[in-house]
Parts: sequence; C-alpha cells; structure tokens
Amino acid sequence: MWYMNLADKVKWARIAWSSLNIPRHSFMTWVLLRNRIPVRARLARFTNIKTQCQICQEEEETQEHLFYNCKWLKEVWEAIGQWISTPRQSGQEWLQLLLNCKGPQHQKRIWNAVFTATIYHIRDARNQLIFKDVAVDKLRMIKTIKEEVVQRILYRAKENKSNYRYIDGLLR
Ligand SMILES: [Zn+2]
Repeated sequence: MWYMNLADKVKWARIAWSSLNIPRHSFMTWVLLRNRIPVRARLARFTNIKTQCQICQEEEETQEHLFYNCKWLKEVWEAIGQWISTPRQSGQEWLQLLLNCKGPQHQKRIWNAVFTATIYHIRDARNQLIFKDVAVDKLRMIKTIKEEVVQRILYRAKENKSNYRYIDGLLR
C-alpha cells in the first residue's frame, strides 16, 4: 500500500465513520483502512490459491489493486465521480480528493458516503463473483450505489436540513 502518514490515517478514519455513511459501508471502509480485507494476495500466504484478481484477470489481487486501481472497475469510479460533478479516474484519486477536501461539511459528508458505498459494493461484487459465480455488473453497481446514498441522505435529511442542499444535483 502506498505510504500514508498518521495525519492521513486519522482523516481516513473520519471519512470511514462520517455521519452520513451507511453503517455497513463505514465498517467495510474501516476494515480496508486496517488492511484487514482477505484479498487473494494475503490469503496466498496461508494457503495455495491463485493470487490473480478475478475481476480483471490481469493483476494480483491486493487491497490496493482491487479497491483503487483495478482497470475493470475504473468505469464505476468514473461514473460515481461524474454523478457528484467531480470526475475522478480511480479509487486512489477519490481518496486523495477526500483527504484534501476543503469544501463545506455537508458536501464532505455526501462525498464520504459515496466513497464508502463504492468501497462496500466493490467488495460485495467481488465476493458475489468468487463465491456465487455472479458476473460483476458495473451498471447495476453504479445504480445501487446511487440509490443507497440518495435514500440515506433523504432519511438523514430529517435530522439535518443542510443535506438537502445537494440532493437536487444527485437526483439527476
Ligand atoms: Zn483487477
């Protein structure tokens, strides 16, 4: 994993536990921050399995590859970036955006919710493929991420009206 200093780790923990996130998305992002996702490169240390990423079949499945750089998932990160009018090419670019974000709080919260939802659904799609042989459907992933985030914002907007400010843009 690329070098991340303590200040960035603290910021990432805030991204992971940001108040608008769906709890299961927060948890998965936290596990990722702790480097505890059982990706194939890690499992191969204990058992004899192929380490190849099952989604792109091109590179070794490390955490960094799967969640940030898998070529096959680039479209998902791009579509999600376009959705919030902040185009990004990869999960890594997304993380840099969030770590350096100086925008208003409610905008940050929405971006964090979108990022953690994407992390969760990458992991979910990967597991569905490996354990249930269900092909990764990128369009469906993008749709689910958007729907879950919008529902969460609407649900939480009852408590915090500032969340409404961005909802029109997200419902396009
Ligand atoms: Zn891959």
